[in-house]
Amino acid sequence: MITPDTRIMNTAIEIAEKNQTPFGAVLAMGDEIFATAANQTRELHDPTAHAELLVIRKLCSQLKKTDLSGFTLYTTCEPCPMCMSAAIWAKIDVIYYGCDIPSISEKMPQIDIRSRDINKKSFHNVTIQGGVLEKRCMEILQLFS
Ligand SMILES: [Zn+2]
Repeated sequence: MITPDTRIMNTAIEIAEKNQTPFGAVLAMGDEIFATAANQTRELHDPTAHAELLVIRKLCSQLKKTDLSGFTLYTTCEPCPMCMSAAIWAKIDVIYYGCDIPSISEKMPQIDIRSRDINKKSFHNVTIQGGVLEKRCMEILQLFS
């Protein structure tokens, strides 16, 4: 089992804080960060502008491809079904998240389908591990929700 790079999760937390949202995401390969994004639903007037979707779009656009095999997604909160599906379409290998959907649900409405359940029904198997810097992620969830 590979281990999460807490420095990269810290970057996801920092980008979330900077944008005053609980949601930040980073795409990395090994210890190299390729793209970052924060939730921008309010700024862009776009209900789909979640951090994970934006970071996937950004990196695919940068690399001019739709296949992000070999990349790891770090996200402060467990991906919602929309973002988890996007990660699968992009063939991301590994996802590390901080807080899980049940915890987020206590602060704001969520679609109650876990990322692992989407993963189970998909054509591409993503390795998923939660609880990465969970306390820090919960702090910003508390602060900005
Ligand atoms: Zn989402």
